[in-house]
Amino acid sequence: MTVITRFAPSPTGFLHIGGARTALFNYLFARRNNGKYILRIEDTDRQRSTENAVKAIMNGLSWLELSGDEQPIFQYSQQERHKQVASTLLEQGKAYKCYCSAKELEEMRALARREGKTALYDRRWRDRDPATAPSNVAPVVRIKSPLKGSTTIDDLVQGRVEVKNEQLDDFVILRADGTPTYMLSVVVDDHDMEISHVIRGDDHLNNAFRQYQLYAAMDWRAPKFAHIPLIHGHDGTKLSKRHGAVGIDAYKDQGYLPEALCNYLLRLGWGHENAEFITRKKAIGLFDIGAVGKSPSRFDIKKLDNINATYMREMSETHLYHLLETHLRKNLDVTLDPIKLERLHRGLSGLKVRAKNINELASSAMIYIVSPPINMDEKADSILSKDARQLIRGLLEPFNELTNWNKTKIEEILKNFATDCDIKFGSVAQPLRAALTGTTSSPDIFEVIEILGKEEVVQRIEAVC
Ligand code: GLU
Repeated sequence: MTVITRFAPSPTGFLHIGGARTALFNYLFARRNNGKYILRIEDTDRQRSTENAVKAIMNGLSWLELSGDEQPIFQYSQQERHKQVASTLLEQGKAYKCYCSAKELEEMRALARREGKTALYDRRWRDRDPATAPSNVAPVVRIKSPLKGSTTIDDLVQGRVEVKNEQLDDFVILRADGTPTYMLSVVVDDHDMEISHVIRGDDHLNNAFRQYQLYAAMDWRAPKFAHIPLIHGHDGTKLSKRHGAVGIDAYKDQGYLPEALCNYLLRLGWGHENAEFITRKKAIGLFDIGAVGKSPSRFDIKKLDNINATYMREMSETHLYHLLETHLRKNLDVTLDPIKLERLHRGLSGLKVRAKNINELASSAMIYIVSPPINMDEKADSILSKDARQLIRGLLEPFNELTNWNKTKIEEILKNFATDCDIKFGSVAQPLRAALTGTTSSPDIFEVIEILGKEEVVQRIEAVC
């Protein structure tokens, strides 16, 4: 069997973190089985679907390198085909027109609820003579679901799930205005696209039993289903805005790396021998949808931070440098002359070990970019007391006289200076760091001084003294 999977978002907002994980699982499953992975934009809800949401979803997927293997399919463009299937079902007597008014339906639902029934429609038009139809009601088209027996789905994640057919509604497949419903469109598209495996959130498991009736009515082979548990927040409830950012674009903006985010998402529900770090390539070789857990996993930003920081440390410096430079130019609107670029190059390895994401890396890299007088944060400002300023002024002379500007010599100067003043090394280093970087934490101070260069260091000290 040729494996074909699809990710089928409704373009009503940004790409949700849960959606991204569904896309990833579909992608990995297809790759693992030498199959195809396709993006289908489910834009049939014309009121709620927007062009911006389509763009946001496509951009998010492209950033995660999860764009489909073919041009995306837009569900709305297939509408005529969906209607045609509804007509076929009507002609074959497998669907029927229902002329219930809104009021009748409301009464019916209230009664069903009182009686504790899950099927809310009482099928009153299923066998009624259409000649008795009222002329002033535009009918909907409903599928004839089986009245007896049960439907079983061997879900690749949930296992064998069975539902009694009497619990299934004769659900609507064409609305009164003639437009196809989601339930119909999904089945027709999955069939036409020859989808072999439907991998999606388990909030769709109930739909699967209804969709199954359509496959049976059309005599089509149903795909295999894999309903993956939703992602929960730290408190065990469904992940939502309350828990923090849920849109992929927010993680992109905060400077997370797409490969790290994918690694983290992969681990939310699937794992291989407890390994935290699994590259895309490795995951393709190992991914097993049957090994996805049945219970929801909790989103843990600390773990994501940890994975991201590790990816940053381990990625090629050329690539990281490129990301840093792009970020600085784009988001912090800084001008980067060759001297500053050179400092960034040299400072990168010292900076990267202290940052969890590109945003943090970029803000810490500002120490190599700003021009004196530099902004002081509150802590740095409080360290730079009058006495401290006076003290570090004493460093100007030995720095000015130093001809061989390197870390070892700089360290020698600072240590001798502390000994001569009969103070601890930290009492010099702390105010000096504050004066040179405007902060109280930075990479190794000798390295920072070496990279900044004599002229800049002297200017920054003079600016605070
Ligand atoms: N469009 C649906 C959604 O965004 C998904 C439908 C499906 O995967 O079958 O929830």
